[in-house]
Amino acid sequence: MTTATADPTSSSGIPRLDLLDQPSLSPAELLRLEQLGREVLGTENDVIALQAEAILALEAVARSVAAPGRRAINVVTGPYGAIFGGWMREMGAEVVDVTSPFDSIATVDAVAAAIADHRPDVVAVVQAEAATGGTNPAAQIIRVARDAGALTVLDAVAAIGAEPVPVDDWGVDIVVIGGQKSLAGPAGVSLVALSDDAWTLIENTPSAPRGSSLSLLDWRHDWVLTDRTLIPGLPSWLESRAMIQAIERVLAEGLDAVNLRHRRAAAATLAGASALGIRAWQRDAPHGAAPVVTALRVPEGRDALTERELGGILSPGNDALRESLIRVNHVGRAASLDAVSDALERLAAALDADPALAHDAAARAWNATT
Ligand SMILES: *Cc1c(COP(=O)(O)O)cnc(C)c1O
Repeated sequence: MTTATADPTSSSGIPRLDLLDQPSLSPAELLRLEQLGREVLGTENDVIALQAEAILALEAVARSVAAPGRRAINVVTGPYGAIFGGWMREMGAEVVDVTSPFDSIATVDAVAAAIADHRPDVVAVVQAEAATGGTNPAAQIIRVARDAGALTVLDAVAAIGAEPVPVDDWGVDIVVIGGQKSLAGPAGVSLVALSDDAWTLIENTPSAPRGSSLSLLDWRHDWVLTDRTLIPGLPSWLESRAMIQAIERVLAEGLDAVNLRHRRAAAATLAGASALGIRAWQRDAPHGAAPVVTALRVPEGRDALTERELGGILSPGNDALRESLIRVNHVGRAASLDAVSDALERLAAALDADPALAHDAAARAWNATT
């Protein structure tokens, strides 16, 4: 392996990291990554590592479980849920969306009623939506879906590391996670946990992708069911090693402690924003407010914050939410009182307000959150 070069920064000013001339990923490293995935998810199920960002893993799942003649309930509380339903429809499934306004979360009653009406084979739900700062009652929705005999799919990309995702306790069949949010890891490898029931349903789906980057079955047949001495294709060794290190760092701090840091950051942000007269985006906050990202409402009578006013961990809402929503991305390493305080300082400056009360309120909320 190479060591640091003489020049610590490249000509572009980006710090030189030791990225080149590494050996490709060994089967032992891939097995380690899968095992770490099982640990953060609390599952004995198979975990596979797709060599791409989580959005591809979600597409792989949607296209593997949906087919003509299959019925699905798709819980939509933000953009990711909407996209997932679109893929299932493209594969010919009959999909009923249970949609909530994007400033609120799903209710268990609405999902239960849709399940009773539609008798789905598959129920898909996003646990936390980073785009709208909402978190759904995933445990209860999964329970209702399982009681109705449906296969359950959970997008936990924004939840993992910020709130518990106890896969075996909940009995959820398919779970997708990535490293780029609260695990403070890379975006280029994502993990999918699959129960035996999930594999059975996918094996019985003739249209499920094969010979494709979207194929879960390729990974099963060319890796999981083999003696695991030869990794199929060429894995992303940099991303995979970064993911191993990210999960090891999370487990060294303790998953509960990492979740707590995110809960504290969210509580501190809500309290500090409230002291500045800024309301939460989630209409019933703190109910439904996600620990991963806090979404705030652009105050009435104000234009969206400018690029100059944002910065740090503040960003505008995505797409249609750009004018009305401010994201406070206290995620991963930024789930800290320092990062939140910096965000409050910027918000106070943008509103010409005194930040002192906001800092006090944030510190108190941070300490009071256990
Ligand atoms: C961030 C996120 C993803 C992953 O999206 P990428 O485009 O791969 O970063 C998926 N689902 C949810 C709910 C997310 O918040």
